[in-house]
Amino acid sequence: LDNFLDALGPERVITAPGDTAPFCVDWTGRFRGATPAVLRPGTTEQVAAVVALCRHHGLALTPQGGNTGLVGGSVPLAGEIVLSLRDLDRLAPVDDVSGQVTVGAGASLAAVQGAATAAGWAYGVDFASRDRATIGGTIATNAGGLRVLRYGDTRAQVVAVEAVLGDGSIVSHLGGPTKDNTGYHLPSLLCGSEGTLGIVTATRLRLVPAASERATALLAFDSVERAVAAAGDLRRHVPTLEAAELMLAAGIGLVCRVTDRPPPPGPSAAAFLLVEAGDRLSPAAELAAGIEALTGVVHVTPVATDPVPAAALWRYREDHPAAVNTLGPPHKFDVSLPGDGLAAFVDEAPGIVAAVAPGATTWMWAHAVDGNVHVNVTGLAPDDDRVGDTLLRSVAARRGSISGEHGIGTAKRAWLHLNRTLAEIDAFRALKRALDPDGILNPNVLLPPPTAAPPLTTGTVRGVSG
Ligand SMILES: Cc1cc2nc3c(=O)[nH]c(=O)nc-3n(C[C@H](O)[C@H](O)[C@H](O)COP(=O)(O)OP(=O)(O)OC[C@H]3O[C@@H](n4cnc5c(N)ncnc54)[C@H](O)[C@@H]3O)c2cc1C
Repeated sequence: LDNFLDALGPERVITAPGDTAPFCVDWTGRFRGATPAVLRPGTTEQVAAVVALCRHHGLALTPQGGNTGLVGGSVPLAGEIVLSLRDLDRLAPVDDVSGQVTVGAGASLAAVQGAATAAGWAYGVDFASRDRATIGGTIATNAGGLRVLRYGDTRAQVVAVEAVLGDGSIVSHLGGPTKDNTGYHLPSLLCGSEGTLGIVTATRLRLVPAASERATALLAFDSVERAVAAAGDLRRHVPTLEAAELMLAAGIGLVCRVTDRPPPPGPSAAAFLLVEAGDRLSPAAELAAGIEALTGVVHVTPVATDPVPAAALWRYREDHPAAVNTLGPPHKFDVSLPGDGLAAFVDEAPGIVAAVAPGATTWMWAHAVDGNVHVNVTGLAPDDDRVGDTLLRSVAARRGSISGEHGIGTAKRAWLHLNRTLAEIDAFRALKRALDPDGILNPNVLLPPPTAAPPLTTGTVRGVSG
């Protein structure tokens, strides 16, 4: 602690249990840990100093941004030192020629979006935790979100990074030109590395032209299959489509109960699709024509171009995570299926869960075009992995991914082998050894322990790659 105080100064070293507590529990309340200290460096050099000290003293570090991660990767579950990057929140002016901006890792997603908008651009990544999630966290988790179908995930936006590796060295390539084929692409490597290879301190992001005009509509269907098919049709016929979010009747009902809001207009329906298009000129006519051509729609809440009714429609979708949290800490499974497998999985998942835990309840919503469904199970003890084991095996058997967005964290590392071959996991370990030789960066995240016992159940499972 004396070393940390010397390196950072007292205002950047937090040790009082009351003050460290919020850094030790995740957003869902399912993952709780403890730490002797939370460190809040204000510069990249201070981050490097902390890593060097931790290496010297053999201390493990948990990097933390906004602590909105959902797989237990951002909290000190084994007593790690917490390295909070939130104070690295500098925003440089937008470069209008390249359409890029350099930002500190601690800047919130919303702050980056705001800076882009103020300069007449947009940032292509968006999701509900935008006010708290940091850009460093979105890189470390390769976050997806609501607009992946048009702009891609975080990896697609990151042009360059500055990071402190596990050996304390600073790698910084922020000034490079857009076209730069000079070797390994470290931004790609750090995207999705969940704080296990390096600590992102700054990044240069690609911006997209602002879609200043928007059109939003809520469609109701009598089956999930029809809703998913409609999302695919809209994607083909509405080039300006930015979002197609699937919701189910039960989830909408819960959101309305918790937020005291009326249900969407129209007859009761099994599934809902919230769709949004964006462009420089109004995409309303294009979206309306695309909706008109769909089959199987039982009700349309008309296309809204005014931000106020559009925001009201988005509340039905964005309030889902918080509404589920009111039922107690959920188990969250953020899985993705091949496109043609999404509807069947959504229909069958509640039965798969009930077969293992009859008292549990399943809540789902999905980024429909991405095949990415958020399965939330409430009514389980925080450490009860039976449902997770069965569900993740079922996803892998359908050639799906056990993590579409949130990452592996501590929650899913025992199941990584369902999607990754032993050769791939060995390659991951070799990278970890090369960049973090003493294994001090998030040592309990992503990679299964070398001697991990086989997870709970046995059986023949076909993973994505094996
Ligand atoms: C309401 C809600 C909605 C969400 N919706 C989505 C969604 O649609 N799509 C999606 O992908 N995610 C979503 N998330 C999950 C979460 O917001 C994202 O994973 C986000 O990217 C995490 O950012 P963070 O700054 O909070 O990271 P944290 O939670 O602090 O950390 C996440 C991981 O990144 C590591 N890390 C954090 N900062 C750094 C850094 N600077 N350098 C290296 N490692 C670092 C941590 O060690 C941890 O392993 C949602 C979460 C909530 C609460």
